[in-house]
Amino acid sequence: MSTTAEPGNGLRIIGWCAWCQNAADNVRIIQVDEQGSGAGGVRSACRPCIDKHGLTLFAEQPPAATPDPPMRPGYCSWHNQSADHVERIQLSEAGSGGKVHYACVHCIRVWKLTPADEDQ
Ligand SMILES: [Zn+2]
Ligand SMILES: [Zn+2]
Repeated sequence: MSTTAEPGNGLRIIGWCAWCQNAADNVRIIQVDEQGSGAGGVRSACRPCIDKHGLTLFAEQPPAATPDPPMRPGYCSWHNQSADHVERIQLSEAGSGGKVHYACVHCIRVWKLTPADEDQ
């Protein structure tokens, strides 16, 4: 339950790459561990330099639970069995009364069903 706005993944950050000494798109914060000075710090680096030098991203977090898992197990209303991946099906019949149905990808193809828009 958090209302804080977090920067989206598609955010472009333009900054200064400390490695190639250039302004670059999409710089990332890099954890610098300088042995001699003892004072570690952070600098930014562009993607090519990150790859080239094997830099460690600062506070890189493992991706949170994926919002949209590719596999959606569920129950297929058409062949009446559970399936590895089902899609919500939009029924245009007047009598359906807004009932939600799911169908597996196989039945979608066989019956030419129309998956509902995921974004409501
Ligand atoms: Zn660079
Ligand atoms: Zn099915």
